[in-house]
Amino acid sequence: MRVVLAVHGGAGSWRVDATTLATVKMTIKQALEEGFKAYHSGSSLDMVVSAVEVLENSGVFNAGIGSVVDLSGSISMDAGVMYRGRAGAVAYVKYPKNPIKLARFVLEKTDHVIIAGDAADNIAKKIGLEPHPGPSKKVLELYKDYLNRIVKGEAKSIPYPKSLAAWLSLGDTVGAVALDRNGDLAAGVSTGGVFLKMPGRVGDSPIPGAGFYANECGAAVATGVGEYIILTHATFRIVEDICKGKDVQEAVGSVLKSIDSVYGSGVAGFIALDRFGRVAGLYNTHAMPWGFITESGELRILGI
Ligand code: ASP
Repeated sequence: MRVVLAVHGGAGSWRVDATTLATVKMTIKQALEEGFKAYHSGSSLDMVVSAVEVLENSGVFNAGIGSVVDLSGSISMDAGVMYRGRAGAVAYVKYPKNPIKLARFVLEKTDHVIIAGDAADNIAKKIGLEPHPGPSKKVLELYKDYLNRIVKGEAKSIPYPKSLAAWLSLGDTVGAVALDRNGDLAAGVSTGGVFLKMPGRVGDSPIPGAGFYANECGAAVATGVGEYIILTHATFRIVEDICKGKDVQEAVGSVLKSIDSVYGSGVAGFIALDRFGRVAGLYNTHAMPWGFITESGELRILGI
């Protein structure tokens, strides 16, 4: 069995300076290495959760401590994991620093798939998850800058969700897919959602079949405009196509093409893995930093 872990840092424009670019690549590498350590003793679920945790803690991406804010200046996050036919997800949570850990709790310790809002935050407190420190300085500066532009008349409020794609440059969702030595596949995703979303908005990331999906044939995670990903059942379709015998690259490519034909380019990206350890990362945005690591020691960083 070929053991593989792949991660991504979100589809977007990623027009960043050289220092940020180096940090992005280094963080992807750290997430791959850290997540892969779990393979010696653990499962593909351990691999995706620990890789996503590194990305959430980095502050580099729009997840965990790097989460962007909504129109009211508050953070709300979504996350989900799927493994061995079960899924666990949290939506609209504000308390935990690592929503991916709370999603794992839902998968392993409850009979439910999605738990949302205050009730999910209360669980996070009860099980002793670390609290979120609040929006980062960088995110608050972007928010203030945007409000100033509205006051000066240089920017209007955003027609929702039509121009959400324009905001994908502000750091993006993170995700991971893994295959372990038992042949079990897992998918995990975590996000702060889209910048300046309406308070209460939930994206694709906590919805199985939209933001993430894994079964015995394959695993896939999504990034991009959640509304479009939900409406196209994107990751479910990718994995279904893999089950029907499509090559993983072809499966991702055809779903991306169909999203492109309805919603245009610049809106989505995916990574996917099949049960043979074949991996693909495709996006119709300018960039999507992603990478993979295999048990033979191959580590590649792509997409940026
Ligand atoms: N898919 C995420 C959402 O819509 C955003 C992203 O991938 O950047 O919540």
